[in-house]
Parts: sequence; structure tokens; C-alpha cells
Amino acid sequence: MKVGVGAVADGDPNAVGRRIDAMRERIAVAARASGRDPLTITLVGVSKRHSHDDVVAAIEAGLTDIGESYVQEARAKFVDLPAVRKHFIGHVQTNKAKAIVEAFDVVQSIDRLEAGLAIAKAARAANKPVRALIQLNVSPTERFGVAPDDAVALAKRLRDDEGLAIDGVMAIAPNTEDRAEIARAFERAARTGAELGPTLSLGMSGDLEEAIDCGSTMLRIGTAIFGART
Ligand SMILES: *Cc1c(COP(=O)(O)O)cnc(C)c1O
Repeated sequence: MKVGVGAVADGDPNAVGRRIDAMRERIAVAARASGRDPLTITLVGVSKRHSHDDVVAAIEAGLTDIGESYVQEARAKFVDLPAVRKHFIGHVQTNKAKAIVEAFDVVQSIDRLEAGLAIAKAARAANKPVRALIQLNVSPTERFGVAPDDAVALAKRLRDDEGLAIDGVMAIAPNTEDRAEIARAFERAARTGAELGPTLSLGMSGDLEEAIDCGSTMLRIGTAIFGART
């Protein structure tokens, strides 16, 4: 998927702030086109492989939610960060569950029973009310995620037996230029998500319009805010 970062040059000292403003406008346009209120859509800035300074600039520009994929990288970056909600969006390795729970408020990537069990156990041990999303696999190009048909049973088990607060679902669209295929994948995720909770984490820099049209309540935006990852 080709993703532009808009008209803001990478050398612009205020690039992150300007891109966030542009992103808010893009979200508002998409929401209006879909008959939705943009205020019902949370913007999570995905800062993996970008600097602590960029994250601070994003927070100063009004960003309230940050997403990271790697625990170690995130822990270093979160030092001395202004208050912000932190989302883990990477693959959950069970031996990292404790570190994930300590560093993050939301774990978006519960993609199998073992991941959910490990996060629930770590949350109990830390006495921290971590919120979690079930990561659905709705794409032939994605390795991780639960089959939508299995998601309800998994969420029930993690809620009832483990006390894990499951808020909804997260999914990644197929890596394709076929907009209709992306929309179909998001629709599939939205149908399952409606059974699991209010949070529907769909949409990245290249497919947020389709995601908003399918009811996304949470966008995970990296490139369009922070620039290309090196
Ligand atoms: C990296 C990443 C994103 C951000 O992707 P962009 O295309 O840079 O906006 C969103 N979600 C997940 C799960 C990611 O790993």
C-alpha cells in the first residue's frame, strides 16, 4: 500500500503538528462523507521507529493516544512523556506480558488464547485494569489474529474466567490496492466487533476512509503523522 505523508516536508520542524492538523481534517471529511460524528473516532498516533521528541511534539499538538508495537522500544520512549493513553499494537509474546502490562493501558492485539491468558494474569498480578481488544484476522496477507468465527468464544472465556476487560476488536486490512476488498474485510471485522464491545480499531494511514465508512471508532495512524519509517 502506498502511503503519502501529505504536503508537509520532513524537514519542517513543526511537521508532526501540521500533519496531525491535516489528519484531523481528513478524518472530519471522511466522517462527514459517511454521515458520522468525527468526535466518535479516537486517533491513535503510531510512533514505532520514531523518536521520543516526535512523540512529545504529537502530544503537544493535542494527540491523546499513542500506539507502539515493540515493548522494549516503547519503554525507552515512554520515559518522561506527558500523560497519554498507551496502546500496545504489536504481537504479544507471552514472556513479555508483564512488561506489556506495566508499560501500556490498552492491549489491542489479543490474537490467541495464550496471549489473552498471559495478559490477564499479568494484569491481575500488577493490579492494573488493562483494557484489551481481540485482534481479528480478516486478511490473507496478515499472519496474526483470531478467525472472526472464534472471537466471541475467546472473548467470553477471557472475560468470564480471567476477568480481562475486552472492549472490542482490532483488525488490519489486506495489503492490497483493491479498495472494495479492504472495505469487505473491515465490514467483516465490524460485524464481529458489534458482538464484542464498543471499540472498533480499524484503519491506518492508507485505508482510514474505508475504516470510517465501516464504523471505525479508533484509527491507528503512523506514517501520515510521523512520516515514513526508516
Ligand atoms: C505500524 C502499524 C500501524 C500504522 O500504520 P501506518 O500505515 O504507518 O499508518 C497501525 N496498526 C498496526 C497494527 C501497525 O503495526
